[in-house]
Amino acid sequence: MFQNLSERLETAFKNLKGEARITDLNIANTVKDIRRALIDADVNYKIAKEFTDKIKEKAMGEKVLNAISPGQLMVKIVQDELTELMGGQEAEFNISGNPAVILIAGLQGSGKTTFTGKLANYLKTKKGKSPLVVAADIYRPAAIDQLTVLAGQIGVDIYAERENKDAVAIALNAIKQAKATNKNVVIIDTAGRLAVDEAMMTEVANIKAAVNPAEILFVVDSMTGQDAVNTAKAFNDRLDFSGVVLTKLDGDTRGGAALTIQYTVNKPVKFVSSGEKMETLDVFYPARMAQRILG
Ligand code: GDP
Repeated sequence: MFQNLSERLETAFKNLKGEARITDLNIANTVKDIRRALIDADVNYKIAKEFTDKIKEKAMGEKVLNAISPGQLMVKIVQDELTELMGGQEAEFNISGNPAVILIAGLQGSGKTTFTGKLANYLKTKKGKSPLVVAADIYRPAAIDQLTVLAGQIGVDIYAERENKDAVAIALNAIKQAKATNKNVVIIDTAGRLAVDEAMMTEVANIKAAVNPAEILFVVDSMTGQDAVNTAKAFNDRLDFSGVVLTKLDGDTRGGAALTIQYTVNKPVKFVSSGEKMETLDVFYPARMAQRILG
């Protein structure tokens, strides 16, 4: 994960580690290397510039404190700022309500259905909940089959209506079913499209209005870099979602989406998914992610 970014940052710091003192010149050089590394990791130029300007300012401010070496000082500053860029503190995940309704949205192929299974598994095994997963994709019968298989693997119930073409009605019926069978979390997997379109947004917005979700999670493939950030903007404008799920972090992803979605849409990343197995889901901790990036 983010291997290239990590290596590039390491090189940037290495050049500084040999220096006895931090100076305007070595700060400027390091900051330039960091900016290039971020841009190559698919961070938008403006954000990369703002980020490194802040690093520079902090380093200048602290250079008189000769307590620690220039290399250590810079690593610390970058780590703090990366953490901040990714949201600072970890975000809360709201499962209040009986049942708590969680709406899952995103483009087709982003990993929505896989995540729906993983989240149900997480809530069942880690939070002691009894979830009901709902296949509200009225266009692709295969999506129902896929969620049925996942639900079987993790041992949770699934709700689907193969003949019903009204996604809002399916969602409401699922909630009724959850109440009748003592399920305390309902996770609704919605239909995805290959690109953001009006009909899709209207459908998810209608489900949102009908079910009053505790959480609306926007699922996005982290491999898509800047596109992920732009898609997040489009979904957030329409849905005002409560959190982001970054998928496919096990792949060869460069990092831009993870680093800048929070900054761009001002919504926290809540989970990261890194594999096809149902257990490969993690709560997102900005500080830990920053630490991993910096090795
Ligand atoms: P949906 O169309 O948004 O519901 O996406 P799916 O859940 O069907 O996922 C699309 C493809 O990505 C499937 O082949 C999944 O197995 C795969 N996938 C989903 N999440 C991950 C992940 O975190 N890592 C990897 N490597 N593959 C994933």
